Amino acid sequence: CSALKNGGTDAQKAEWLPRVAGGEIACFGLTEPGSGSDSAGLQTTATRTDNGWVLNGTKRYITNSPFAKVGLIMARTSKENLPKNAHVSAFIVPMDAPGVSIGKSDKKMGQSGSHIADIIMEDVHVGESALLGGELGKGFVYAMMSLDNGRMSVGAAATAYARRALDSAIRYATERKAFGEPIANFQLIQQMLADSEIEIYAAETMMADVTRRADAGENVLRKAAAFKVFASEMCGRVVDRVVQVYGGAGYLAEYDAERFFRDARIYRIYEGTTQILQLQIAKHMLREFNAFA
Ligand SMILES: Cc1cc2nc3c(=O)[nH]c(=O)nc-3n(C[C@H](O)[C@H](O)[C@H](O)COP(=O)(O)OP(=O)(O)OC[C@H]3O[C@@H](n4cnc5c(N)ncnc54)[C@H](O)[C@@H]3O)c2cc1C
Repeated sequence: CSALKNGGTDAQKAEWLPRVAGGEIACFGLTEPGSGSDSAGLQTTATRTDNGWVLNGTKRYITNSPFAKVGLIMARTSKENLPKNAHVSAFIVPMDAPGVSIGKSDKKMGQSGSHIADIIMEDVHVGESALLGGELGKGFVYAMMSLDNGRMSVGAAATAYARRALDSAIRYATERKAFGEPIANFQLIQQMLADSEIEIYAAETMMADVTRRADAGENVLRKAAAFKVFASEMCGRVVDRVVQVYGGAGYLAEYDAERFFRDARIYRIYEGTTQILQLQIAKHMLREFNAFA
């Protein structure tokens, strides 16, 4: 939605925003079999015709694609890797367009309530109006900017997930007894609970700060990335401690802790892996330093 809202033409917004806001599911197609972190290396092509574009290629791991009515699909309009990703544009593609097919939902480690699949495009014809923003490359810039929102959402999800997992560990620690008393009485258990609380509080504070700045219109690229990295890594540490607090029960599918451990793992991977975001943060720090040196 945010790429459409910020980068769409008036006609594109008028057509799609009410539909998506009204509940029609949309998906975001950037990743491909041969390119994930290296998104500029994507191979899906959009070739100009007399009255629009023809798309060919495969998108991989696309969340919601099994249910989506529309996809924002990144495709290359030039064979050369032009600077600043000028070879990539974003296209609004109805998922029922002839030539679009959706693969089988992939089996994943966790988050089984969320579905991902391939989107396969074979000679998919779309009109001129499908090019987001109406200009080559423009919509892609907005699509990339929308990733800041995605990173804040993943950071927020990871923070809340850690909080929910910690609540569960507190409950378990007060109910489970060892050596004749609740395990919550043991200081080494308390340390795991306290360390988790401290880290969750730090992530909640980052969330309040970065979302306030985003609402005020500030460029939050670096801070959104920092929040996503911290919150997702923190969530991984918290769910690991929660399994430990549960002891043997933490390893059993019958209890919540096992699912927390599996579900949380993806936060460090999608919307930019930890490593890619670390590189991005460092790049901006160094660029800024050079600018002021
Ligand atoms: C459940 C799920 C949902 C997803 N939903 C979507 C979606 O809706 N839309 C979409 O477009 N994509 C989606 N993705 C794809 C996701 O964004 C990518 O998987 C992710 O960006 C990583 O890309 P990759 O899998 O190709 O890993 P790779 O890029 O192959 O990376 C593999 C490893 O190498 C590291 N690495 C790569 N390059 C460097 C480097 N230069 N320096 C240091 N380390 C590096 C990475 O950090 C990672 O650890 C989803 C994936 C999953 C699993």
